[in-house]
Amino acid sequence: MPALVPSPTAALSRRRSVLTFAALAGAAGIVGTGLAPGAVAAATKVAQKTVAYRSSPNGKLRCDLCTQWQAPASCKVVEGTISPSGWCSLYAAKA
Ligand code: SF4
Repeated sequence: MPALVPSPTAALSRRRSVLTFAALAGAAGIVGTGLAPGAVAAATKVAQKTVAYRSSPNGKLRCDLCTQWQAPASCKVVEGTISPSGWCSLYAAKA
């Protein structure tokens, strides 16, 4: 029988997804347009400034340890060149 209460990990993952979509939708100015989250992610990336991107890590948190990282130097959700040792507010640790 499945658990009735979501695990803390599942709840955190959903929260990150919602926050990521909110940041992307807000940056793209498309809130209320009826576009699906997948369409937003495929259509645009958020500006580095919007998510406080920096080319240095935040402690042990760095882009090449994030689920959005794409080697050698890009990100699925943030535009521009992304350093493997960078970090931004959308950071989501790989499982
Ligand atoms: S920390 Fe930010 S910029 Fe770096 S890979 Fe993750 S989402 Fe992209």
